[in-house]
Amino acid sequence: MRIASFIDISLVDVPKIPVTVIFTSGCNMDCGYCQNAEIIPLDSGSEMIISDIVESVRDNLSDGYCITGGEPTIHKDLPLLIKALREDGAGHINLNTQGSVPDILEKCLPYLDSVWFDMKAVPERYAEITRVKFDPWPRVLRSIKLLIDSNVSFWPRTTYVGRLMKPTEILEIANLLHELGFQGEYLIQNYLKSSGTRESEVVNFEEPNKSELESLIDSMPSGITLKLEWR
Ligand code: SF4
Repeated sequence: MRIASFIDISLVDVPKIPVTVIFTSGCNMDCGYCQNAEIIPLDSGSEMIISDIVESVRDNLSDGYCITGGEPTIHKDLPLLIKALREDGAGHINLNTQGSVPDILEKCLPYLDSVWFDMKAVPERYAEITRVKFDPWPRVLRSIKLLIDSNVSFWPRTTYVGRLMKPTEILEIANLLHELGFQGEYLIQNYLKSSGTRESEVVNFEEPNKSELESLIDSMPSGITLKLEWR
């Protein structure tokens, strides 16, 4: 699979667990607000075999791994990497995904502890916001159902982007998660212009105010707590 980089230890990617972060390269979406835009191209990063990846991240003083990207599930050998990390004695293993490749996600589930799941939009705006030709929503929905029916902790989150999204859409996503049987925390993080965002794109977006969403906290469906994490 193609690898962009590693972070030896991160204290912010998985709650309360120091993890080593593995960034895979390449993504099958093209969100305008992407903060890792340089690793969207499918030929970005470097090809590495599984054993070399495991060797590279072994012996860090972390308690597990966070595998992120790009979109890790576009790589067919992702389940083999996660299995190899597990067999190498990994503690917690977390995957970040937007869920557009459910067949690969399904093969990863036996070896995972948790998944940060990027809910990009309300269903009817998925193709528009992720800027892909074919609507990814049916595949994303299948991934959500797979996760809810699994033993893996499902952590849905949305990057809220000013000028692109509306507060009512966050409520719609929360209601949808409720209808699908999810109970737990739904995390909203703010879009931030950063060194990883494309200069040509930032004119279209705004860093949103937390106050725009605060009134939603009391409107959540039963069993779902809205957490606003402004960075
Ligand atoms: S899915 Fe994630 S990595 Fe891919 S373009 Fe969108 S924000 Fe970037």
